[in-house]
Amino acid sequence: MSGRGEAYTALSGCLREHFGMRVWRVAVSRHKECPNRMGGREGCIFCLPAAYEPAAALTAGSVREQLERGIARYRARGVAEGFVAYLQSGSNTYGSVEELRAVYLEALAVRGVVALSIATRPDCLPADVLSMLDELSGAYHIWVELGIQSMHERTLKALDRGHSAECSAQAIRALMGTRVQHIVAHMILGLPGETIEDMHASMREVCMLRKERGEGAFPRLGLKLHHLQVMRGTRLEAAWRAGEVEVMDLDEYARVVVEVLERVPRDVVIHRLCGEAAREYLCAPIWPGDRLAHVARIRDEFRVRGTWQGRLSVE
Ligand code: SF4
Repeated sequence: MSGRGEAYTALSGCLREHFGMRVWRVAVSRHKECPNRMGGREGCIFCLPAAYEPAAALTAGSVREQLERGIARYRARGVAEGFVAYLQSGSNTYGSVEELRAVYLEALAVRGVVALSIATRPDCLPADVLSMLDELSGAYHIWVELGIQSMHERTLKALDRGHSAECSAQAIRALMGTRVQHIVAHMILGLPGETIEDMHASMREVCMLRKERGEGAFPRLGLKLHHLQVMRGTRLEAAWRAGEVEVMDLDEYARVVVEVLERVPRDVVIHRLCGEAAREYLCAPIWPGDRLAHVARIRDEFRVRGTWQGRLSVE
């Protein structure tokens, strides 16, 4: 650290500043299949859908019921006063505009919800859905979270993502052209065959795209960083067991994530520093301690190196 306050621009601080209260995310599910797993497609090689289902969705119920249950639980713990409804699993812009609008409005109508975050794939943003998102963003605080993972074509092909890097760039550009307040890119660090330079290049390309439109009331771009995790029963597990894929230990990952964030401009909001798959689904890496310990290790790496997000940004 160097007198710049926090080592990185954490989401929690941005939410408190924007909404004037503590805001917590409540993940819910529409229980819909991802289009990359339909029509004979096998999905991404690392995908284990059960691992992405939020805890609140494990019991049956509508989006409204899941949200009310989740909000009641967090209120009882006193962790927040406002809530982001997070449509987490699957591709939540896949479907008819009418169906999607209804589910978004259902979430936004729940008492205590101050924003809606919609997770999806870059190839699931047709013009009519973009137009509806733009319209809703005129009245509500809307985020879209995109599974980007990498901006390298060879990596996307190897992962069987089913979309190109250009498709990801187009999706971010298209969203930047709407009133959607916040666009979150999910990126995986340590993908098979990628060097640290490849990771820097992906991050640089994504960060540059936030300049496609001027400043909004809320920072326009966020990043959710994940380390490569090998889930049980996936094609990635077979490759890992065959010795074709390596994963990082926590010390190595802490070095990588800090080096990546040193080059990420300070206005980019960091939602997550590492993945957190439940142990029951995870083959590797098995890091010691829990998620808080992993975040603490990464924060410690910033401290020991005396560095911070954006220190080496060339913008
Ligand atoms: S886009 Fe997400 S849900 Fe769909 S196959 Fe890939 S990882 Fe699974």
